[in-house]
Amino acid sequence: MSSLITYSPAYTLVPTYECFNRCSYCNFRTDPRNDTWLSLENAKRRLISLQQKGVWEILILSGEVHPNSPRRQRWFQHIYDLCELALELGFFPHTNAGPLFYEEMKQLKQVNVSMGLMLEQITPKLLETVHKNAPSKQPEIRLQQLAYAGELKIPFTTGILLGIGETEADWWESLSAIAQQHQTYQHIQEVILQPHRLGSKQSWKKDGFNLKEFPKLIQKAREILPSDIAIQIPPNLIPDSQFLLTCIKAGVTDLGGIGIIDEVNPDYPHLHVDSLQKILNEEGWKLKPRLPIYPQYYHWLSPRLKSRISYIIDE
Ligand code: SF4
Repeated sequence: MSSLITYSPAYTLVPTYECFNRCSYCNFRTDPRNDTWLSLENAKRRLISLQQKGVWEILILSGEVHPNSPRRQRWFQHIYDLCELALELGFFPHTNAGPLFYEEMKQLKQVNVSMGLMLEQITPKLLETVHKNAPSKQPEIRLQQLAYAGELKIPFTTGILLGIGETEADWWESLSAIAQQHQTYQHIQEVILQPHRLGSKQSWKKDGFNLKEFPKLIQKAREILPSDIAIQIPPNLIPDSQFLLTCIKAGVTDLGGIGIIDEVNPDYPHLHVDSLQKILNEEGWKLKPRLPIYPQYYHWLSPRLKSRISYIIDE
C-alpha cells in the first residue's frame, strides 16, 4: 500500500439549508422558505478571507429546492453564481446539491472541476423508514444521477451511508451498483464510506452502525470497487485515533475534505490537519493535499478549468 494518504483542503459554502426532503437522520436541513439564502456578498467576504490559506476546494453543499418549485431556477442560478465566484477567486468548486436535471448538471460542469452525490443505499426498503418523507432518495433517481455524470464526463464522488437501517447484503449490493456504473463510464473518482453518527438535530434517535464492522467493510469495498477508485472515510466520524489507523490499514486511501466544520455532521468537528498527520506518522503514512479532481480526469476539463489547475499540476 502507498504511504501517501490524501485529503482535500476544503471549505464548505451552503447556499441554503432548506430542503424539501425530510430524512429522519438529517442534522442539516431546515424547512422550505425557513432559511435566508447565503448572499453572494457574504460568500465573497468569506472566500477572500480564505485566499492564501491553503484552501483549494470549495464544496458547494446545498439543501434541495423541489424540482417543480417556481424557485428552482433561482436556486440553481444561485449555485451556479457561487461556483463562478469561487472560481474567479482562485478556488476549485465541487458541487453536491442533490439530484439535478441533466441540463443543470451539464451547466454546472462548466464551473465545477468535479461533482458529487451520495448513492447512500440502493435498497428501496429505506423508503418505508428513514426516507419515508424524502422523495429524492429513491434509488433509481440516485443511480440516474451517476449515469448522467458519466454521460457528461463529470469526475464524480459518491458513496454509501452506513447504519441507517440497511443490512450487510445491502452494502455489497450498493457498492456493486457503483462499480457497475464505473465500468460503464469510468467516471467515479472516489467512494465515501460514511458511518452515520448520531447528531443533536436528528429526529431518528438510533446510532445504527457498529463501528467494529468498519475494517471488514472497507476490505470488502476494496475488493468490490475497481482499483482506480479511491476509498474515502471521514476521520471526524471515527472516535479513536488507533481505530482510524486500523481503518486506513484496511484499504482507505483518502480522508476527504478537511475544513473548519463538517456541515452534514456539525456535532463532529474535524481535527486540524497537523493533528491528523501526527496520528498517521505512527504508521509512517504521509498526509498529502489533493485537488477535488483526481489527475486521471484532468483531460475531461474545459480549457478554462484546465488552465485554472495548471499551476498546481506543474508543482
Ligand atoms: S439528508 Fe440531505 S436530502 Fe435528506 S433532508 Fe437532509 S439535506 Fe435534505
